[in-house]
Amino acid sequence: SIVVTGATGALGRLVVEHLLTTTPASEVAAVVRDKEKAAGLAARGVELRIADYDRPETLADAFHAGDRVLLISGNQVGSRVAQHTAVIDAAKAAGVAQLAYTGILGGPEADFTLADEHRVTEQLILDSGLPYTFLRNGWYTENQTENLAPVLAHGAVVGSAGEGRIAYASRDDYAAAAAAVLTGEGHLNRAYELSGDTALSYADYAAVVAKVTGKEIVHNDVPAAVHQEILTGAGLPEGFAAILVDVDQAVRRGKLADTSGDLARLIGRPTTPVADTVAAAVAAL
Ligand code: NDP
Repeated sequence: SIVVTGATGALGRLVVEHLLTTTPASEVAAVVRDKEKAAGLAARGVELRIADYDRPETLADAFHAGDRVLLISGNQVGSRVAQHTAVIDAAKAAGVAQLAYTGILGGPEADFTLADEHRVTEQLILDSGLPYTFLRNGWYTENQTENLAPVLAHGAVVGSAGEGRIAYASRDDYAAAAAAVLTGEGHLNRAYELSGDTALSYADYAAVVAKVTGKEIVHNDVPAAVHQEILTGAGLPEGFAAILVDVDQAVRRGKLADTSGDLARLIGRPTTPVADTVAAAVAAL
């Protein structure tokens, strides 16, 4: 089977949608921790395998020999090495044919805090000896557009990345790439640097939002310490705010700006323009 972990998450749902355009549902399996949340998938004929990364014993039957598996990285920052270790061990014990993993753009070169667990996970997968595919995902455009309401309220995009650029792609672009490596050939023991075709500074992003909404939106670049205060003031936990400020410093150093074209090549079309994702988010407000 083709097996997707995190299949009830935002990315996982989209991966399954792409898989179902080319693959019979009976050949697709979803590893989920919440059966009810996955009822829609089951109704469409996708096999459910119930497992929780935090309880390794539940992963014993999550994978079968010959499966092509996508491990979607967990969302609990700080717990992910232990969680991913449990998944990799189970995949190894089962003898899967492919273990694809959603890491972060740059792989071993990604030197910011949020990338730490991805770097360790890639090494664990290499050490496992399993045939792997590294999907090194760049920044989702949705990371920005999910924050559109305050941008419109204040008429400003606030950040501490200076003129640093981000090569945004939509979540669905990354999902299409994952489906492509799970169904196509020639992707074993390869790493893909996945990112959008065009890299935008925060000023560029502010201009896109201004154009789409017809409102005046400025770029307000602030020092890292001020950025941290703004984020915690908006209700983010201190630790997570620090991780996001650290990402902005990496952006300043150009760490999320790569436009290799790997993503467009894998999906066979240009990546989704940031303006399209902004327009969809505005329509949904
Ligand atoms: P989501 O938070 O929507 O999905 C995370 C998935 O992981 C969910 O399906 C969740 O299950 C599952 N999960 C979490 N903990 C466990 C566990 N203990 N056992 C089993 N499953 C678990 O994130 P996205 O889909 O948007 O993104 C996928 C991943 O990509 C994120 O987890 C994160 O690592 C990374 N990411 C990268 C970004 C980037 O810009 N590059 C931006 C955002 C995320 P459940 O549905 O039950 O909650």
